[in-house]
Amino acid sequence: MTQTASVAAVAEPTHQIPAIVQSLRARFDTGRTRDRRWREQQLDGILRFIAEREDEIREALAADLGKPAVEAFVAEFGFVRAETKHARKHLKAWMKPERVGTPLVLQPGKSLVHKDPLGVVLVISPWNYPFHLAMAPIVGAVAAGNCVLLKPSELAPHTSALLSRFLPHYMDETCVRVLEGGVEKTTELLKERFDHIFFTGSGRIGRIIMAAAAKHLTPVTLELGGKSPCVVDRTADLRTAARRIVWGKFSNAGQTCVAPDYVLVEREVHDGLLNHLVRTVREFYGDDPSLSPDFGRIINARHHQRLSKMLEGADGAGTAVAGGVANESEKYIAPTILRDVSPDAPVMQEEIFGPILPVLTVNDVGEAISFINQRDKPLALYLYTEHAPTQERVITETSSGGVSVNHVWLHLAVPELPFGGVGESGMGAYHGKRSFDVFTHHKAVLKKPALVDPQFMYPPYTEQKKKWLERLL
Ligand code: NAD
Repeated sequence: MTQTASVAAVAEPTHQIPAIVQSLRARFDTGRTRDRRWREQQLDGILRFIAEREDEIREALAADLGKPAVEAFVAEFGFVRAETKHARKHLKAWMKPERVGTPLVLQPGKSLVHKDPLGVVLVISPWNYPFHLAMAPIVGAVAAGNCVLLKPSELAPHTSALLSRFLPHYMDETCVRVLEGGVEKTTELLKERFDHIFFTGSGRIGRIIMAAAAKHLTPVTLELGGKSPCVVDRTADLRTAARRIVWGKFSNAGQTCVAPDYVLVEREVHDGLLNHLVRTVREFYGDDPSLSPDFGRIINARHHQRLSKMLEGADGAGTAVAGGVANESEKYIAPTILRDVSPDAPVMQEEIFGPILPVLTVNDVGEAISFINQRDKPLALYLYTEHAPTQERVITETSSGGVSVNHVWLHLAVPELPFGGVGESGMGAYHGKRSFDVFTHHKAVLKKPALVDPQFMYPPYTEQKKKWLERLL
């Protein structure tokens, strides 16, 4: 552990929150952040932050979550780097006012959509991808020309401290601030007025955020979670499906919002899939996954206890065909695959958010669709099939934030695809240009020349004027 990652930055006291928000508002009011050059400098700053502090970022993630170096690169700072480069490349085009058509009745005239920054935005991030989920919204917020206040998760203290300590060195610290803290501080923070709140976390806290935002009529983006299902039909390539499901589920020890939560497999390929899943776990993490450098740990004791309870053998809770072992002192839960799980089992009642994968049997894809549609809309849905009509059927007949066919959550790495939930899994979406749009007001502007002033809209209204309008509208 380097000194930088282990030393917490000095957290701002709660009573200073109003002054911090006011100072950000004052900075926004200077107009400084509207300038394209300023925005480019912030994005360049993020790229330099990642380039120069890669080791510290990796170490903080290892200290918080035991995150393997490759996962830290791919799913944390590598992702943020790609998003930042994408924004940097397209910023000029995104900022440009868009010319749209003007109806005949309003001619002569010119119609434009202007891209206005919103003002001061609040980003509240969770602990599971504590770098990625703090920084990716900031990319959109500064690209769109806003001042930002970031409140990282206190449950990933090393990454929180790292952001608080280093971000001011790489970004305009008068316009981008980090406020470390937990519930008490966030509660105070939410009393302030922001122009947008971008929250990533659970639906339970999402409700608190939305209620606080309502007092100021502040719009919110809620990036939430839920139980994302995998559907495996009889035509699927079972070996590939197993590899992808195991990778997507057990990365970050299952603490991923888009992790496959459970599997619905057609009866006829149930045993075949289970064999492949069990074999893949051994291939990836060895006979004793607690020794694997590629398998992470549970964030804290509370979550460890919550997950351990799911492993306890109540009726219908299922049988572990892989894993099933927990060690609280090491915050370790083995990559676990459960068979014969009842839909009423505790593990099927809430988002698992840990390395436990229940496998349930269905008779056919129609039954899988009903199963999914009877529950909250998931953040993601994964479908494994070689049958094109089945792909179209599941995509059309279910509702989820996104779908990956024959893979896990890679759809979120396509910058042109919106990433976000629907219903219980969230509202709003970001990534790529949509991140810019989330933090932008699309302002309607109509420009009319004064010289030409047709009279047909003005009183006194006559039959003739009415006829003109009827023809033009
Ligand atoms: P959480 O909701 O407990 O916490 C998220 C943030 O809210 C943290 O910064 C925390 O400090 C703050 N917070 C906690 N209690 C609060 C309160 N009473 N008032 C105000 N703020 C409060 O979520 P978490 O445990 O950090 O993350 C796990 C959840 O996040 C899972 O449900 C997961 O699916 C979801 N998630 C979603 C995404 C996504 O992109 N959609 C990504 C990661 C995680």
